[in-house]
Amino acid sequence: MKRVYTYHWILMVCLVVSGLTLLCSCANLTPGPGVKGCVVVWSERTAPKDVYPNDINGAIAEGLACLKGWEVVTANIDDPEQGLPDELLQRADVLIWWGHKRHGQVKDSLVDKIEKRVKEDGMGFISLHSSHFAKPNKRLMGSPCSFKAYVGDSTTLQITVTDSKHPIAKGVNPDFTVVHHERYSDPYAVPEAEAIVFDGVATLKDGSKDPSHQGYCWTIGKGRMFYFQVGHETNPVYFDSNIRKIMANAVKWAAP
Ligand code: ZN
Repeated sequence: MKRVYTYHWILMVCLVVSGLTLLCSCANLTPGPGVKGCVVVWSERTAPKDVYPNDINGAIAEGLACLKGWEVVTANIDDPEQGLPDELLQRADVLIWWGHKRHGQVKDSLVDKIEKRVKEDGMGFISLHSSHFAKPNKRLMGSPCSFKAYVGDSTTLQITVTDSKHPIAKGVNPDFTVVHHERYSDPYAVPEAEAIVFDGVATLKDGSKDPSHQGYCWTIGKGRMFYFQVGHETNPVYFDSNIRKIMANAVKWAAP
């Protein structure tokens, strides 16, 4: 009797594993009818595991599960073709990018393809935090993309909605605070934004305040682009419900 039980148990595990495998492989197929879009969340897998066990792209993708009907794909630099084979890049309606230490390893040929997808085909591009210096971000902005200062002396960041009518602000708490250790100080060396949707005020360890823009929007060729400043790898902001709402709204706004 005990042996029969064991076989049943093994069969159950096999069924669950094969079901999960099928589910995962389906995510790589061409979307069928009813699929609203495809968002690819890319990162370089350098975030600390104790903060982001599934890296930053994993945490963002988890938050995008609220996008009903959307296919959400995670990709990283160590995947084949640096996570963005032609088939996936062609299928992506929106590409979210988080990079920090490995910008230089991203192939220029991939940056060329991303630029073309945004400018000529209208793919949305969402650039996060230290991705201000990522090759695709700099290519799309066509500017140095530097900040005045980068300092790890912040304790909290109060984020406020600046443009409440903007689609990316929809349903976002108009005023919320996140833990914050690294501030980037304005100005950000980029073309003038079409909209500043979010602003922030960092409170520093000495009690002083540093205000800066947090969420910028542009149109680049046929595509839409959003940059969000907060998101240092030691701060678990991508688990925050307001930040997740902003990410989901940004995907819908940036989609062609
Ligand atoms: Zn950082």
